[in-house]
Amino acid sequence: MPAPALSISHLRKVYARGTVAVEDISLTVPEGEFFAFLGPNGAGKSTTIHCITGIAEPTAGKIEIFGIDAVKDYREARRLVGLCPQEFNVDPFATPRQIVDWMGGYFGMAAKARKERTDMLMERFELILHQKKQFRELSGGLKRRVVLARALIHDPKLIILDEPTAGVDVELRRVLWRYLAEINKDGKTILLTSHYLEEVERLCRQIAIVNKGLVVREGTKDEMVGEPGGLEQAYLVATGAQADHVAAE
Ligand code: ADP
Ligand code: MG
Repeated sequence: MPAPALSISHLRKVYARGTVAVEDISLTVPEGEFFAFLGPNGAGKSTTIHCITGIAEPTAGKIEIFGIDAVKDYREARRLVGLCPQEFNVDPFATPRQIVDWMGGYFGMAAKARKERTDMLMERFELILHQKKQFRELSGGLKRRVVLARALIHDPKLIILDEPTAGVDVELRRVLWRYLAEINKDGKTILLTSHYLEEVERLCRQIAIVNKGLVVREGTKDEMVGEPGGLEQAYLVATGAQADHVAAE
């Protein structure tokens, strides 16, 4: 059996001031999967992603990326992951080309390989017209595309997207969906967090719902969509939200 793209076992993260952001999360994402990681604000999604990508250090538990320990063998594991963080952590004065190229440098790619790959990504995400503008001048949807291109510069096998379509208008969201579906079709494994259940329904095949640092429901998209009330009801019930609204339907 090949190692899964991502395996999280009893992850726990307590921040310095005692906030238990992740209580106990275990997840397995097989290679090639399009996996939704859902939950209300504060559930611990971004913290889990930060632990996977070395931004935060787990308090306990084990994370493996294609069988490689994400903490002990951080550099080797990190190279396999492309991350689109929830917040834009870029130099607002840099251009899309620079932003993408610098990430290639971070992963130790040679200049020629970076240039070829950056050219391809600018083309693929329709950024050619904008590649020499400053990041701060771009619309929200274009910024998301730049960050997506940056996540792919080193040709990672696992792509993690933390609310990639938050604040993006309907039309550009559809463009992003197309890109994400294509990336998955190319064989890349995707882990997506989102508050847009329509997006999850369209794109994802497997779903884990977290609440208060615990996985409260896991299953296939088809199974949850097929229940009375569909994915929205499954989500609301799992997270214990708005019980009266659910009951009234
Ligand atoms: P989500 O991404 O699901 O909205 P987060 O992982 O961002 O959830 O947050 C989980 C909990 O951890 C929240 O209570 C949040 O306030 C807290 N938290 C997140 N980041 C930090 C941090 N760097 N330091 C302290 N507490 C944090
Ligand atoms: Mg978050």
